[in-house]
Amino acid sequence: MRTPLVAANWKMNGSREFAEQFFAALDLEGATAEVVICPSFPYLPQVGEKLKGMGVALGAQNLSQETSGAFTGEVSAGMLLDFGVRYAIVGHSERRSLYGESSELVAGKFLAAQSAGLVPILCVGETLQEREAERTLEVIGSQLQAVAEAGSGNIWGSAIIAYEPVWAIGTGKTATPEQAQQVHGFIRGYLGEAGAAVQILYGGSVKSGNAATLFAQPDIDGALVGGASLDAEEFARICRAAG
Ligand code: PEP
Repeated sequence: MRTPLVAANWKMNGSREFAEQFFAALDLEGATAEVVICPSFPYLPQVGEKLKGMGVALGAQNLSQETSGAFTGEVSAGMLLDFGVRYAIVGHSERRSLYGESSELVAGKFLAAQSAGLVPILCVGETLQEREAERTLEVIGSQLQAVAEAGSGNIWGSAIIAYEPVWAIGTGKTATPEQAQQVHGFIRGYLGEAGAAVQILYGGSVKSGNAATLFAQPDIDGALVGGASLDAEEFARICRAAG
């Protein structure tokens, strides 16, 4: 049985004051899902302090594939661990499309996170054009394959996958539960034996109004939430819908 997990991706939003107000309003009473909050790097210590004793984990939105050295502006997995970070999002479609991150680079970040002891949340997803060309599963397969080829051993054993159709992120369009389940089932099959225990999250305009039907699908184990995670009450409703 997989524990449901809901992760908040605040993206480049927030401020010191926002974080104060968010945690003053966040009430996770009745939510049994694992919850992860991923703020921007500068707010990791502040949010980490807030999370103490709440049973909520801290995540980062990105990390370097390198461990240390002359990489100006980069943040390593070891540095994140120093601040109590347990999860790191890798391969978010905004990083792939706006910052040119290739699947090979994403694989490097995945492995850097994992070898340091962080749990990577690997985002995969197709564009609208790729979906319309009926290339969805091929695209997802190749994004997963890049990681599988770069790693060795049981790389999926301590990883989370987030299926995030690019056309559904921040657009208000959500994949139907059937569309999402089809891809989640494909991902689980791709992961092989290890796949049975891997949490596979859905992301793309998840809100409290659509969360329950998505979470009712057999291979949807929770959500990676962008916009709706900036509203503490709405985010808590999504967490409760997950379990
Ligand atoms: C995301 O950025 O990972 C995401 C799913 O965003 P949104 O929920 O706003 O679509």
